[in-house]
Amino acid sequence: MKLLYEGKAKQIYATDDQNQIIIHYKDDATAGNGVKKGTIENKGILNNKISALIYMYLMKHGVKTHFIKELNERDQLAYKVDILPLEVICRNVIAGSAAARYKIPEGTKIDQPIYEICWKNDDLGDPLIADNHALAFKLATKEELAYIYEETDKINKLLIEFFKTMGINLIDFKLEFGRLKDGQIVLADEISPDTCRLWDSQTNEKLDKDRFRRDLGNIEEAYHEILKRLTGK
Ligand code: UDP
Repeated sequence: MKLLYEGKAKQIYATDDQNQIIIHYKDDATAGNGVKKGTIENKGILNNKISALIYMYLMKHGVKTHFIKELNERDQLAYKVDILPLEVICRNVIAGSAAARYKIPEGTKIDQPIYEICWKNDDLGDPLIADNHALAFKLATKEELAYIYEETDKINKLLIEFFKTMGINLIDFKLEFGRLKDGQIVLADEISPDTCRLWDSQTNEKLDKDRFRRDLGNIEEAYHEILKRLTGK
């Protein structure tokens, strides 16, 4: 298989169908825009499974995505998209960079979600931007931006409920969107403990990548716990 792209946590391979790609999940982990590097044992296997389960739930509820199917332990089949150079961050509780930026204690609840967009640009460290920047820099059209915010709101509501039934608070998460060949925008990339903050509802224990970012230990166990709650096994 021809490697098309290698990112921090995944590899993308071509398939015989030019409209489809294979996403291969690695165990590599990075944080702080690549400054901290490491591996989390079995992370690729866990995130492949976790992301597939979350995508299937979202698709069952009408969210359009690039996901086709799980192929094996580490690989998924997906439609090929051009990823928009935007990261959409949704916050339900203040944490991470928002806690630091606004000097609000981590864990502070907010009455309505905050939606942020960041420009995917490694050299600049993915800066937070306003809609006007996205339009002026031609990162997305006005219609695409409106659709992305609408979908993010829908996905947030669905995911809050989904995780709530498993005793997990969805603190914040990052989404990416891509353009299909016909121009349609769909949800793309993974949704996993690498891209969400997930806290146990009872104890507030962190069950996500912050365990790696902040050297809290028991990282693989936390990812396992998320999969266990998703599958009930
Ligand atoms: N996030 C991500 N990739 C990024 C930046 C953030 O998946 O490149 C996720 C992160 O896991 C968290 C949410 O987006 O769930 C908000 O992250 P934040 O802006 O607080 O940044 P961080 O504290 O991770 O630097």
